[in-house]
Amino acid sequence: MPKQTRILGRAFVAVGALAALVTATAVPAAAAEPSAANVSSVEQDVDRLYQEVADLLQTPRPAKVLSNSKPLLASPIPEPGKKSSPAVAGSPDCTQGSLLTEVDKLAEHLTETELDAAGALSRLVELYASTVATDKSPQVFGTDGQYTPRATAAIDKLRGFWNIESWNIQLVAMKGTDAGSPEKMTQTFALGFDPARAAEAGELATKVTNEIPVLQGGRNPLLSLNAYSYDADNPGGKRITLGDGLLNVNNRSGFDDVSVEAVLGHEYGHQVDFANGNFPGDESGEMGPDAYAGYFLAHAKGEAWDARAQQEVTYLNASIGDCEHSHGTPEQRKAAGAWGEQQALKQFNPNQIVPSAKIIERFQQQYPKLMRTQNAAH
Ligand SMILES: [Zn+2]
Repeated sequence: MPKQTRILGRAFVAVGALAALVTATAVPAAAAEPSAANVSSVEQDVDRLYQEVADLLQTPRPAKVLSNSKPLLASPIPEPGKKSSPAVAGSPDCTQGSLLTEVDKLAEHLTETELDAAGALSRLVELYASTVATDKSPQVFGTDGQYTPRATAAIDKLRGFWNIESWNIQLVAMKGTDAGSPEKMTQTFALGFDPARAAEAGELATKVTNEIPVLQGGRNPLLSLNAYSYDADNPGGKRITLGDGLLNVNNRSGFDDVSVEAVLGHEYGHQVDFANGNFPGDESGEMGPDAYAGYFLAHAKGEAWDARAQQEVTYLNASIGDCEHSHGTPEQRKAAGAWGEQQALKQFNPNQIVPSAKIIERFQQQYPKLMRTQNAAH
C-alpha cells in the first residue's frame, strides 16, 4: 500500500465533528463556529503566535531541547518554521500502525488556522515539560489525574529494575492544559526571549488556547500527543515526559490496560541506552527500548505481566510503528518487544535481572534478524 502522507490534508471540516470525536467533554458544535467578526483577529493571533514559536525554536536552549529529544511518535502536526516535511516513501509492504492513523485523523479535521495553533502550542507544551517543569512538584498524569498512581508505580519499579543511575532521571507530565497558564507559557518563552517579549508571547499563547474552541483549553489530545526521553545534555537534564494526549488516544485505541507501563518502559529504555553510552544511528535506537520494555514488563521482578498483557503490548508497539524507517515498522516493533519478553520468560532463574549492558549487547546481536521481520511477514 502506498504510504499515506503524514502531513495533514488541510481539510476544512466542521470543527464540531472533531470536538465530538475527541472527547465527551467537547464543546457543542454551535459554540465551535467562530463568528464572522472575530475570525480575522483569531487568525492574526495564531499567525503571531506561530511566528513567535518559530523564532523561539531558533534560540539556543530550545533548539538544544529539540535536538536531544527522543519522541515516541513522529509529530502529526508540522513544527512552526518547518511548514511541511516532504512525504517519505514507505516500503511497499508497510502500512503504518493503527494508532498513527488515528492521530492523523484527529489532525485532518482541523482547519489550517487550528492546525497552526496546535502546532505552535504543542511545541510550547513540549518545551515546558522538557525544561521548565520539574518533578519536585507533584505530577498529575492524565487530564484528570487518572493515570498518576500507575505512572508513579511504574517509574519506581523501573528505577529499581535497571542497573543504571536513576535518582536524577525525572518523570514529568506533559499537559496540553499548561498552554492555558500565562505564567507557564511566559517561563517557556523566557528560555529564549527577554522578559518583556516572553511575557507578551506567553499571554498570547494562553489567549489562543482559549479562543479556539476545538483546542478545549488545552485538553485536545493533539497538544500533548507524545512521550519523550531526554539525555543529560537536555537543558532540563535527564528526564522522561509523558503526554496526557498520548494516554487519551491509547485509551481510545483499546490499549488502556498497558499504555502507561509500556510507554514508560520504552522511554526508560532510552535512559538505559544513554547510561551505557549506546547511541545507535539506526532503528535499533528505537527498537532496543521496545525490547528492554518487553523484558521489564514480562520479568518476575518487573511488572510480571501475563501472556495476555504481553500480547497487548506487542500490539501497542505495532500500532505506533511507522513506514519512515525512524522507529521501525509495525512488524519490526512487534518483534522487538516480543523478543524482550522472551528473554525474561526463558531465563533459568526468573528472578535474575540481566545487567543493562548485557541486554543491549544481546539485542544488538539480534537486531539484524529483527529487521528482516518485515519481509518474513509477507
Ligand atoms: Zn523511543
